[in-house]
Amino acid sequence: MNLFSYEQASNAAAAIDLAKAGNAPRYLGGGTNLVDLMREDIERPDMLIDITQLPADIEPRSDGSLLIGAAAKNTALAADSYVRSALPLLSRSILAGASAQIRNMATVGGNILQRTRCRYFYDDAAHCNKRHPGDGCDARDGFNRYHAILGASPSCVATHPSDMCVALAALDARLHLKGPIGLRSMPFLDLHRLPGERPDIETDLQPNELITAVEIPPLPFARRSTYRKVRDRASYAFALISVAAAVDIDEAGKVHDARLALGGVAHKPWRALKAEAVLKGAPANVESFRAAAEAELAAAIGLKDNGFKIELAKRTIVAVLDELKGEGA
Ligand code: SF4
Repeated sequence: MNLFSYEQASNAAAAIDLAKAGNAPRYLGGGTNLVDLMREDIERPDMLIDITQLPADIEPRSDGSLLIGAAAKNTALAADSYVRSALPLLSRSILAGASAQIRNMATVGGNILQRTRCRYFYDDAAHCNKRHPGDGCDARDGFNRYHAILGASPSCVATHPSDMCVALAALDARLHLKGPIGLRSMPFLDLHRLPGERPDIETDLQPNELITAVEIPPLPFARRSTYRKVRDRASYAFALISVAAAVDIDEAGKVHDARLALGGVAHKPWRALKAEAVLKGAPANVESFRAAAEAELAAAIGLKDNGFKIELAKRTIVAVLDELKGEGA
């Protein structure tokens, strides 16, 4: 049995002070992933610091940006009227994840920091470099249908499980952080790491650093955006492939600007910058969309069970962009 203490923090400074006193503290939001990991004996904190009293406001600002308190519930963010109209890809990505009950509990900060659902990571009898660096990776030759096709390493082929994070990657979100050394902000795309030789180190957060808010900069053309998730069953399943996209098409029928990110493909939410570069200035048609998809997936490598995801990703990109083109401005 792993004994731990439970503390409640009324603000970020108090949470950080509490964390400094622990040997292996963990911040507790909705607990929808952390508690599972504790039940499986994968996570063994000596202190849980409840941070659900931290700011949960969802604030559209006059410059068109949006500030989201990290304690905001996933349900509240998906249902927010501004998010639904101005950032439909964000609302749809959240609604594509988990179940209504889990979304009611889960916080935005916790969603961002949830850990992979690789089955070998959760199986203490399996070899897993993420649990025990240097132990090996049973997923490489095991059941790897859900595993990575981009950015993987010999050490780890896990994927990041979040849907919401795929939309945040497409939207160029920034994180507001508070830690023992003070305040800072970080591009969301810099938070999660590729596995390399240390898949156990998943983010570039400092020890005891806390995500206090997520900021989404203005992006007017995100009104024409969406999120599509391809999975093995219609609900309560992780993505085989997902695509978050926003596109700005000019009056001449060319792509003026585009944002594209993929889920289910890598150890981190995958911003598709190569595809975006191909799209900008190209005619908004299926040929351009396919060329963009080919460019992004050129470096993809399939494993025993997931090679089909390379073509699936390409087709999903094309289908999503074609759908957005048909929506009009
Ligand atoms: Fe562990 Fe990563 Fe291998 Fe899964 S893919 S068993 S998380 S090292």
